[in-house]
Amino acid sequence: MFSTEPEKTVKAISLFSGGLDSIVSVKLIQEQGIDVQGLTFCTPFFEAAKPRAAARMIALPLMVLDITEVHLAMVRAPRYGYGKNMNPCIDCHTLMLKIAGEKMEEMGHDFIFTGEVLGQRPMSQSRQMLHVVAKNSGYADRILRPLSARLLPETLPEKEGKVDRERLLDISGRGRKRQMEMAERYGVTEYSNPAGGCLLTDVMFSRRLKDLFASHPGFATRDLELLKVGRHIRLDDRHKVIVGRNKRDNQSLEPLIGDRDTVFQMRDFPGPLCMLPGGAPEEMELQAASICAAYGDAPKDVGQVTVKCRRGDEMRLVLVAPANKEELQGKMI
Ligand code: SF4
Repeated sequence: MFSTEPEKTVKAISLFSGGLDSIVSVKLIQEQGIDVQGLTFCTPFFEAAKPRAAARMIALPLMVLDITEVHLAMVRAPRYGYGKNMNPCIDCHTLMLKIAGEKMEEMGHDFIFTGEVLGQRPMSQSRQMLHVVAKNSGYADRILRPLSARLLPETLPEKEGKVDRERLLDISGRGRKRQMEMAERYGVTEYSNPAGGCLLTDVMFSRRLKDLFASHPGFATRDLELLKVGRHIRLDDRHKVIVGRNKRDNQSLEPLIGDRDTVFQMRDFPGPLCMLPGGAPEEMELQAASICAAYGDAPKDVGQVTVKCRRGDEMRLVLVAPANKEELQGKMI
């Protein structure tokens, strides 16, 4: 007896970073007639611009989820700690796989897959770590790594015959020769560098983030955005000044200013926009004003300069001597 039921299309979710490995893994799975839905994430630490562009290029439907809240909670207290900087890659991968698994169930898809390659990154893509993150995500048996699958234990979709293991690959290590050959075969000519894109791997951003966690534990998402702009100078354990380094910084700071922040700008000379987030006592505002004067274009022998201090709708003028820039160096975050 033949079944009259039409054969059900196998559907999978690709955890899609937009890099070469994720592009070729999508192609490899699509080659088996599997319906692929791309999934990527954004937070204040990384954007979805690269995966969006790559998905457009290969006509992959892409879902972008903003996971700021849950991701930030993880970044503050990662179970497996941080990498070289403030990057909790093991917990981050686990979280992404967990969310992808929940989406898979919600959408009735059959499995999740990633572009990870065994041994490509010594820590996060070791055999043990690939196992740990999959297990901790709660979806271990439904996570496939098509590029290295034949070197890894068989997963449920392979056992169920939803994916043909024979047509999956056995790539390992750091080289990308085979992936590049695959890209050529698939007609994919543009793909980005695998590294970069996550601010949690950046030395300066990590230093500022650590400082924010320690000094302003009740911070808001806006404060994370501020970490990306200007020079940050610590005044005391609760107050810091942010100094725009150029016109672009000044423009980036402007929309981030709230009613409780004090903003400084020289009245008579071009110079930075400076900001004291959350305001501060009078004495500290004067310090911030003199920092503002130090980084502007006032003549060296000017003595004192007039600085506009704005907070909400109130504006006042203060007369200050520019701070000594060398002394400020030691207070930079
Ligand atoms: S580099 Fe950033 S986005 Fe990537 S796994 Fe690590 S923490 Fe997460």
